[in-house]
Amino acid sequence: MDDLIRHGVEARKDWNSYHTAAAEPFPRYHNRPDCEDGSVMPDKDIRAGTDGRALCDKCRQAQRQSS
Ligand SMILES: [Zn+2]
Repeated sequence: MDDLIRHGVEARKDWNSYHTAAAEPFPRYHNRPDCEDGSVMPDKDIRAGTDGRALCDKCRQAQRQSS
């Protein structure tokens, strides 16, 4: 994990949900700061909230396993 990604994880740590403002083929939101997909989003594109999107599959699976 390089510094850029670590910084991205830190930036998302306290957020319940976030999404990217960049165009995506399948728009989704994330609710885990360690999500594989969410953690690679550039910080400048991150927005708080769900934006009415479906929850990312990886976040949903992690949620079931841990809670
Ligand atoms: Zn996710």
